[in-house]
Amino acid sequence: MLLDILLPIRCAACGLPGRAFCLRCRDTLIRLAPPLCERCGSPGAWPVRRCAECSGRRLAFVTARAAIVYDATARHFVHAWKERGQRTLAAEAASLVAETLARPRAPVLAFVPADGDRALQRGHRPAEALARELGRVWELPVAQLVRRVRAAERQRGLGLQERRRNVRGAFASARASPARVCLVDDIYTSGATVGAAASALRRGGARSVEVVTLARAVR
Ligand SMILES: [Zn+2]
Ligand SMILES: [Zn+2]
Repeated sequence: MLLDILLPIRCAACGLPGRAFCLRCRDTLIRLAPPLCERCGSPGAWPVRRCAECSGRRLAFVTARAAIVYDATARHFVHAWKERGQRTLAAEAASLVAETLARPRAPVLAFVPADGDRALQRGHRPAEALARELGRVWELPVAQLVRRVRAAERQRGLGLQERRRNVRGAFASARASPARVCLVDDIYTSGATVGAAASALRRGGARSVEVVTLARAVR
């Protein structure tokens, strides 16, 4: 394409021309590997059922797992994917997830719905795009089981309590949910967003919600 000639594709992290995210930078992404908190997937020195991050919290999901640590390189990747609308990166994100995480036991994938205005601004919906690519890889159907009731304020810059308050009531069940669901989102930061979306799934009839994200903030 003419545009490709005028604007060669460059790696979102290192700027090297050729690929939207080069293989060398891909190799530097830190994979999340055990030992992990059984519940929220936070890495630690040994496996625990609940960790400092999630203990004492009522979580609507049974497990949360992510493929990579949300560090500077991952941030470049996600930024290019989300803000610059590089759709090939959704497939790349799915391959990172599928390489790192086991196929979920749930028979269906759901996704955290994008905020209406923001989705329009960006022109696409990262969580949904990731779910659809993962559906292809894992050969699982993707269903829109959660909808947004109201737009949430941006989570960025908010504290944990504020994040939870901000997303409370932001989601509702879109239709009756199967008993087991795998909920897909792009990034796990505090767990507040996937927690609220998982609550909506539970209200829709889900008994067990597994959360899968590309990246996870690690404290
Ligand atoms: Zn690179
Ligand atoms: Zn935990």
